[in-house]
Amino acid sequence: MTEIVVRVRDLSVSYVRGSYAVKGVSFEVHRGELLYILGPNGAGKSTILKALIGAVKPSSGTIELFGTPIERFREWWRIGYVPQNAQAQLSRTPVSVEEVLRASRIPGRAMDAKEVLRLVGFAEPVEVLRRPLFQLSGGQFQRVLLAMALINAPQLLLLDEPTAYIDITGVSEFIRLINELNREMGTTVITVTHDVSAITAHRSSMVLCVNRDRSFFGTIGELVASEELCNVYGFHVLTLGHVPESGEK
Ligand code: ADP
Repeated sequence: MTEIVVRVRDLSVSYVRGSYAVKGVSFEVHRGELLYILGPNGAGKSTILKALIGAVKPSSGTIELFGTPIERFREWWRIGYVPQNAQAQLSRTPVSVEEVLRASRIPGRAMDAKEVLRLVGFAEPVEVLRRPLFQLSGGQFQRVLLAMALINAPQLLLLDEPTAYIDITGVSEFIRLINELNREMGTTVITVTHDVSAITAHRSSMVLCVNRDRSFFGTIGELVASEELCNVYGFHVLTLGHVPESGEK
């Protein structure tokens, strides 16, 4: 049995007394697995990631990271995190790709900047390093954010809506890149997304669907096979259903 990287039991988070952002969520992620967290806006997806990095405190329930209760977990270098809206906040900062990557490095752990840019799909990393952030396209920016999260070779990668700024044609390509990183580096990845159609090709990957007080944890295959589940979580079953067999993994 592979190591359990994340174990969440009966997690509830409340920001406002009497109402829950998430309620009773349980799931686990083994080393090397890919988990997608799906659900409508306001369903509690980002809250779950924030709870995993200790940025919000559970009202009840338990979280274990690499076998250690989160209250005692200290090895934060093992986790790479790309928050939602990072692009909106960073894109007006007058710095270069090289400078943000340098600022993200932990001495003694970090990979070479060019190597990490190659990993996230830049064929000419030297040229990219020189560029100011505001000169990057939406898709290039997201790949730089991914490079920042990956530079210290984390074992768990948490991505909150990484395709939010990418045009529709780039979304599947970005999801493919995440799958590749997962396969080639063995990184465990948890991705929050609402681009359900982009992930249906990866049917054996796990999904956690949330809608505040409801949740479903299973495979993408199970999700797309159930009209009822799709209805509960607000997905269009027709879009999901039309996945060619050849696209399956
Ligand atoms: P999602 O990522 O699925 O869109 P969120 O986890 O961001 O959902 O939010 C879940 C619910 O919690 C929403 O109703 C949101 O308004 C509320 N919420 C999120 N952050 C805060 C906060 N800091 N204070 C109060 N309410 C919050």
